[in-house]
Amino acid sequence: MLKFLGLALIVFGAVLIFSIPLLGWAFGGLIVFIGIGLISLSWMRGIIKTVVPKSIQTCPACKAPIPGDASVCMHCGHRFAATA
Ligand SMILES: [Zn+2]
Repeated sequence: MLKFLGLALIVFGAVLIFSIPLLGWAFGGLIVFIGIGLISLSWMRGIIKTVVPKSIQTCPACKAPIPGDASVCMHCGHRFAATA
């Protein structure tokens, strides 16, 4: 979602750059810069999402977030099957 918004901003900025000779470079350049920032932000989020599930798991009994290496839920006492 953020990636598409960033792409739309880059396209919009490029249109501004090509349609307005001088001001287009200032505004269009800024908008393209924000678009690239949004895309890199969504890219960073993707990396974080792939890293976090390894350290945090959800208890199947009470749905509370618990450490990935826990064998017993600290909230409800549910025992987990041994994780491979
Ligand atoms: Zn639990």
